[in-house]
Amino acid sequence: TPTLHRRHRPVDQQAAGKVPAVIGRRRMRTVVTGGAGFVGSHLVDKLMARGDEVIVLDNFFTGRKENLVHHLENPRFELIRHDVVKPILLEVDQIYHLACPASPVHYKYNPRQPLYSVGRSQRFNHLNQGLLNSFDYKTNVMGTLNMLGLAKRIRARFLITSTSEVYGDPLEHPQKETYWGHVNPIGVRSCYDEGKRTAETLTMDYHRNEGVEVRIARIFNTYGPRMCLNDGRVVSNFVSQAIRKQPMTVYGDGKQTRSFQYVSDLVDGLMALMEGEHIGPFNLGNPGEFTMLELAQVVKETINTNAAIEFRENTADDPQKRKPDISKAKELLNWEPKVTLREGLPQMASDFRNRILKENEGEVD
Ligand code: NAD
Ligand code: UDP
Ligand code: UDP
Repeated sequence: TPTLHRRHRPVDQQAAGKVPAVIGRRRMRTVVTGGAGFVGSHLVDKLMARGDEVIVLDNFFTGRKENLVHHLENPRFELIRHDVVKPILLEVDQIYHLACPASPVHYKYNPRQPLYSVGRSQRFNHLNQGLLNSFDYKTNVMGTLNMLGLAKRIRARFLITSTSEVYGDPLEHPQKETYWGHVNPIGVRSCYDEGKRTAETLTMDYHRNEGVEVRIARIFNTYGPRMCLNDGRVVSNFVSQAIRKQPMTVYGDGKQTRSFQYVSDLVDGLMALMEGEHIGPFNLGNPGEFTMLELAQVVKETINTNAAIEFRENTADDPQKRKPDISKAKELLNWEPKVTLREGLPQMASDFRNRILKENEGEVD
């Protein structure tokens, strides 16, 4: 049973004005916004396994009910179709706020170029309307404001999943949490970067001004089972392409770097952060750094030895280097990633193989 902190005790007991001599025996009630998505659904699995009562708020914009189908019959679990841009009333102890249209096809979408590999999935058709940038920003700002308002009213602890993108195209390498970043405020990916920066600002304001207990995670590129097949991120693209026997599309010269974290490591980090005593921000990522050409090589070795490479023009404002300095999380959260790229990729590939097979058989993904 998780320990409850004094300022973090169950809401109904607070409301009744009772402070029990022994606390921490009741179940934790936890909200996960964006819980039907890639990271959120893995987090929900771990919270459910711990014995929490879990409420997921999701508008299924990029998430899928299939990611949570194994919990639907569980009385401790509730799935609510809800857009976090709208207010909501709930009574819970902890809020993990993940909801955000995070996939890069959204903010990198350029109407003059066809979207890469949208496939038969209908989920991304709304992208063609070109309305997504303001939507990204709105979710990050208004959604975060609503969840902070909720946290304030019910005195719940609030965790925001921010991103390494707050560092922009970094001039410091590797990136420490003290780095303020190098972000273009008016570029094609600004809606995401600046949206998350604003979400961090709101989070700290609610902490300082309203006494809300907050936690900030800055997540670096994460991969694993249940990622959208066609979300345009590099790992999902390369893995899908290798399985479909299509060439892997390397953007630019492929010398830009990223550091790839397996999703179970991230979930462990998020929970350590929520349960710990430190606000953050904390970098949560795997410091192993790869060029995109090296990533393609690892995909080739672990998934399809015949996989070929094809070069494509790069998108604007692409960060040249990215690698987390995780000393702060190591020291204060006692956390560090365990799964290497060579161990994680095959696990992701077996999930992708099953889903691509179903897609080919005509089932809706
Ligand atoms: P995802 O797209 O799989 O999940 C996001 C979820 O939020 C989806 O289920 C989507 O339907 C939901 N959502 C979007 N807008 C919503 C709204 N207005 N109301 C309710 N639900 C909404 O993405 P993910 O990779 O699981 O990302 C989860 C979080 O982690 C995001 O906040 C993202 O910014 C952050 N993050 C992820 C990565 C990564 O590499 N995966 C890196 C940095 C940060
Ligand atoms: N909010 C919410 N649920 C709650 C409490 C607040 O969705 O239980 C929303 C509220 O509608 C508002 C936002 O959170 O849009 C910020 O709330 P806060 O009370 O901080 O600000 P105010 O309502 O005073 O502007
Ligand atoms: N990238 C690539 N091929 C692809 C998709 C992306 O080479 O099919 C590159 C992209 O240009 C960027 C890196 O991979 O340099 C990571 O891109 P992603 O969109 O996954 O994440 P982010 O840029 O947000 O870190």
